[in-house]
Amino acid sequence: MQSGYAVKLKKLFEAAKKARTRAHAPYSEHSIGAAIYTKDGKLSAGCNIENASFGGTVCAERVAVWKAVSEGYKTPIQEVCVVSDAKTAWPPCGFCRQVLAEFATPDTLIHLANLKGIQKTYRFGDLLPHAFDPDHMK
Ligand code: ZN
Repeated sequence: MQSGYAVKLKKLFEAAKKARTRAHAPYSEHSIGAAIYTKDGKLSAGCNIENASFGGTVCAERVAVWKAVSEGYKTPIQEVCVVSDAKTAWPPCGFCRQVLAEFATPDTLIHLANLKGIQKTYRFGDLLPHAFDPDHMK
């Protein structure tokens, strides 16, 4: 029998994997899914949504975060899972790390996965040390 945490983590991974199937990625042909848990235990998932005007493209991680914020879910974000079909799982890009810095903490867990499962887990503070975050604006 799996622990409560293992079940919760699998649910996060499966939500990211499912969201990936809805990606709109006709230009890069790389479908990505992401899912997050917020402080209140809510789950939000997103996929990358590309645009013919490339600047209008948004990554899966940001879609998941913006959905959670717009739904009123409580931050900080507790965990993030990013799923690609890459052999070596992809990490969040720089833009997404900056957006995460607004709503996560250095202890937020970032899980990098491919279709087979989670390959690596980082503390957010290790992925984006010395982040420019809301504290700088006080
Ligand atoms: Zn990104």
